[in-house]
Amino acid sequence: MSTIKLEIVSPDKMVYSEDVEMAIVYSTGGELGILSGHAPLLTGILPHAMRVKRNGGEELIAVCGGFMEVTPHKITLLASAAELPINIDINRAQKAYDRAKERLEILQKTPEEHQDIDSMRAHAALDRAKARLHATKNI
Ligand code: ATP
Repeated sequence: MSTIKLEIVSPDKMVYSEDVEMAIVYSTGGELGILSGHAPLLTGILPHAMRVKRNGGEELIAVCGGFMEVTPHKITLLASAAELPINIDINRAQKAYDRAKERLEILQKTPEEHQDIDSMRAHAALDRAKARLHATKNI
């Protein structure tokens, strides 16, 4: 099967650079399965565990939002944060998940008493934690 180069770049490093058979990504426009020869595309990326098919197997990689550029031979994903499962601290991700959940529950129960809680920020933190827990198969 023909391959396409996938590069995932976070602000401080190159997280992933491999020739892959397919990348399955949640973009702001929906789920995309990208193979070699894909039409050029520029889109936003949602926080999630993206799926990468390589050498007949499947890998999961946590990406925490960003942008993706696709050309027929290359996918470039610029992520605000991205981690391979082996580099994910599951305990830290679980704590971030619990913290965000608790904030959102408090806000839902007594919104008038908790105007200090930023709902969008808590939702975004929850989505990042979910991406990490999915990538490590802990959710
Ligand atoms: P936390 O509340 O635990 O800091 P966060 O979602 O706010 O989580 P980010 O702002 O997305 O964290 O990431 C900051 C940096 O920490 C990035 O370099 C990211 O790769 C890293 N990071 C965050 N959470 C984890 C984790 N669970 N395991 C490994 N690295 C992580």
